[in-house]
Amino acid sequence: MLVEIILADHAGFCFGVRRAIERALDETAKRGKLYSQGPLIHNRQVVDGLRKKGLEPVDNIDDVPPGSTVMLRTHGVGPSVYEHAEKNSLDVIDATCPFVARAQMEASRLHKANYLVLVLGEPDHPEAQAIREHTGGHAIIVERSADVDFSSLPKRVAVVCQTTQRLEALRELVNALLGHTTELVVVNTICDATSQRQDAVWAMAQNVEVVIVIGGRHSANTTRLAQICTDAGKPTYHIETADEIDCAWFRGVARAGVTAGASTPDEAIDAVLQRIRKCERELEASA
Ligand code: SF4
Repeated sequence: MLVEIILADHAGFCFGVRRAIERALDETAKRGKLYSQGPLIHNRQVVDGLRKKGLEPVDNIDDVPPGSTVMLRTHGVGPSVYEHAEKNSLDVIDATCPFVARAQMEASRLHKANYLVLVLGEPDHPEAQAIREHTGGHAIIVERSADVDFSSLPKRVAVVCQTTQRLEALRELVNALLGHTTELVVVNTICDATSQRQDAVWAMAQNVEVVIVIGGRHSANTTRLAQICTDAGKPTYHIETADEIDCAWFRGVARAGVTAGASTPDEAIDAVLQRIRKCERELEASA
């Protein structure tokens, strides 16, 4: 039986990631060696390719040699990193995605206007932590309404989001806060690329029997796409590369869905499509 493959709309590189990678290729060609604080994007294969061209990820900004060039990631960083760069004469190439920069700017503005800022996001994620840092460390990162201590909320509360959050999660948090706040400001900083991908993958998942989600295991937006497909009740496999595919996943399947996170290059998607076709031939031959 032929497996029909449905590729979700908006799969693969988003605007911010494409912009950062083009900038990295451009700058390594011009300058040779550059550093990034952490991997530029959450995709091991792309990061390895960039390393060969001269972009070296380091764990900490302190590891960047004084006087050299550092590229800041799409996730953004807090003010302390800019201060460190200035003190150590680092040349900064800022690849912070404009959507992330907006979340940072809104959090800072609302903190200065005396709101308690809640950042809907993952406490351990560098993007959420950097947004918090832009409030001088005063914002509270929450993953859901259950994380909020309603008894200690001040009168003025504001919500901003890590850009990869789900709209349902924002709705849930806002609904819970409504009954506990006098003044609530909500700035929806979920980026369009994220919401378009999430809507598209939800729609696709309704029409397939199994879903392959391609992207880095540490990529928040890819993990969320996989979660949406699981929530839709479909067997879902989150993979980084085509060689992780087990052909048995497609046994008896007439329609398979494929999507990819915002850090996944087109070549990785093509490799997965080819691998599924190969599985189809292998399954037919063994039938
Ligand atoms: S997912 Fe959105 S916020 Fe994140 S880098 Fe891409 S465009 Fe920017």
